Amino acid sequence: MSRRRQIYEGKAKILYEGPEPGTIIQYFKDDATAFNAEKKGTINGKGVINNRVSEHIFTLLQQIGIPSHFIRRLNMREQLVKQVEIVPIEVIVRNYAAGSLTKRLGIEEGTQLPHTLIEYCYKDDALGDPLIAEEHIACFGWASQEEMQDISAMAIRINDFMAGMFGGIGIKLVDFKLEFGRLFDGDFSRIILADEISPDGCRLWDIETNEKLDKDRFRRDLGGEAEAYQEVARRLGLFPEGNVSEVADLDSERKKRGK
Ligand code: UDP
Repeated sequence: MSRRRQIYEGKAKILYEGPEPGTIIQYFKDDATAFNAEKKGTINGKGVINNRVSEHIFTLLQQIGIPSHFIRRLNMREQLVKQVEIVPIEVIVRNYAAGSLTKRLGIEEGTQLPHTLIEYCYKDDALGDPLIAEEHIACFGWASQEEMQDISAMAIRINDFMAGMFGGIGIKLVDFKLEFGRLFDGDFSRIILADEISPDGCRLWDIETNEKLDKDRFRRDLGGEAEAYQEVARRLGLFPEGNVSEVADLDSERKKRGK
């Protein structure tokens, strides 16, 4: 990895300069954080699984006309993406009540929402990513009204697609987070989907049992987080080359040995 210039290290990913101008390499780590990085740990093989899950979902989304930064997966932990200017907003899409929504409004976890709810948070770790209204976004110029129209329209289409995709493999899409970026072409820019879509940023429950198959297992010390991520990958039909836990574990071992 040392052959490339590191641009940024985040909680779950490292960004390296890509081979051509305008490209970036996203490296997926096994590190996991929760509660604004107050809780830290690792989930064995998570980076390998998230790289694959995100590749799968971004590829399918491109096929239904959702533009994204994803170019191609390079190896077990890396993917090549287009360089964008990240819009400093986390877009949260909710179908059932969970997490901060239940705490904020006292709604029981698992309650089906009358319709899909979109919330926005300002991306600022020091402030703990506070919930904001569209008025704040306009007031402080974090995104234009036109950009927000593109973002909300894409978020709804992505939700419809993903709810169907996960529904088909016995998984309830409770909520998830999206990030968008500006892709520049001369003086103009357009909004495209960026970051990743994986069990790190989604709440995924088994339809029959409501068992959590996502990062809540880590957040709430439920145990079995590596197995939950593997189960999502398995149901999506990823890792056709072999057993997902063996592939992910092998890669984690290789990483620990520094190879
Ligand atoms: N989420 C995320 N990153 C964040 C905040 C939220 O990926 O910084 C995801 C989270 O995994 C969940 C959804 O967005 O699927 C809604 O999260 P919520 O607002 O309930 O906050 P949380 O309970 O995760 O703190």
